[in-house]
Amino acid sequence: MMDAVYGVYNKTSSEKVNLKEYFDQYSKLVNCKELHDLRTKALNPSGNFLQGQLPDEDFKFLAEYCSVDNLTVPGEVPKCMDPRTMRRKEIYETEDIPDDVGLQTLVELKKRLNSKQSNTINSIKYRSETYVQHDVAKSAGPLAKPGQDTLIYIRVYNPFMHRNTGVDKPQKISLNCVIVMLGFQTLDKLRDKISCISDLSVSTDVSKHPIRKAGPSAKELYKSGFFYIEDTFYNDFRDPTNEDYSKVIRDWAETRNLGPFKTASMADVRVDSLSVRFGFPWVYQHQASCEHLIVFSDARLINFDDNLDVSSYPRIHRIRPRPSRYCMMCGVHAVRWITTNNDRLPHNPCFFCDTCFKSYNYVKGKKLGNFKAYPYPFDPDFP
Ligand SMILES: [Zn+2]
Ligand SMILES: [Zn+2]
Repeated sequence: MMDAVYGVYNKTSSEKVNLKEYFDQYSKLVNCKELHDLRTKALNPSGNFLQGQLPDEDFKFLAEYCSVDNLTVPGEVPKCMDPRTMRRKEIYETEDIPDDVGLQTLVELKKRLNSKQSNTINSIKYRSETYVQHDVAKSAGPLAKPGQDTLIYIRVYNPFMHRNTGVDKPQKISLNCVIVMLGFQTLDKLRDKISCISDLSVSTDVSKHPIRKAGPSAKELYKSGFFYIEDTFYNDFRDPTNEDYSKVIRDWAETRNLGPFKTASMADVRVDSLSVRFGFPWVYQHQASCEHLIVFSDARLINFDDNLDVSSYPRIHRIRPRPSRYCMMCGVHAVRWITTNNDRLPHNPCFFCDTCFKSYNYVKGKKLGNFKAYPYPFDPDFP
């Protein structure tokens, strides 16, 4: 069934890979003795560096003398990041590649850069995504092991309206963010990092007393959800009152002889224990019917130059900035309130900034006419 609907992605997705097995084998390969010796030498260069002719003290002096820190002066303006290089993943010049080159990677690269179509695809593919720079905070927590632990990249898309509604136009699927996590972390950690506006709504009408922290947000009230990856529903059962959202789907599938599907608890599943196909869309569902596609896009061993602090993962790696929604009254300020069934307005719902909301709907704090009001978007961290 899945293949009938999503079979089209088989062409662009990878073979099924068990992440743990793959990287265990790979790290054995790269951690073999010869490479280990090489790495130790590289890390302790004073040993055999310059055939051992340089005493440790001289080496230290040389290292300090050549340090890039010496290239800055006090009070210098900090270096600006070039946003163009952050947004474009690949910048190559074909002119630099000689004609008679035999290296197959360069031959293929040249072919790709010369084809007009791929040029357009490459240049617009990452334009809307922005790399998120994190401060490297020093913590005393556990550290990941370079060459042994893995980093896994997951693209999370915004919820969208499915094509078969018939009435509405199909919505374009857009990226929400790319999350990077460590292989030994569990799926519930990934879930906690996904931010969606449907988690941030408050369903209590606060029109009588418009205060933003009117009650719990949807995220605090309705905690059920699941990931669907390779024939298994990974449910969130961390709260005992959570419901199994997959039950209704599995029952429906059974009456149509589809499946069988397995279930598991997302808090028990390490992400590297999964067998995944890179590039293939899987599902994250929460708040009853809010469905997101998720795609495993990359995985690699963690390096010495990555942030090794375990507590800083999972984290947002890239985001797609979204334009703010503006007040429908002034068109200047960002939306802070929504009203529905407002009998003094032609718009239902209507979006307001804080000032317009209070000045149009209230006189000396007293509500005018009939309407319901909700804070938008409600985030318990920024009320
Ligand atoms: Zn959602
Ligand atoms: Zn306004």
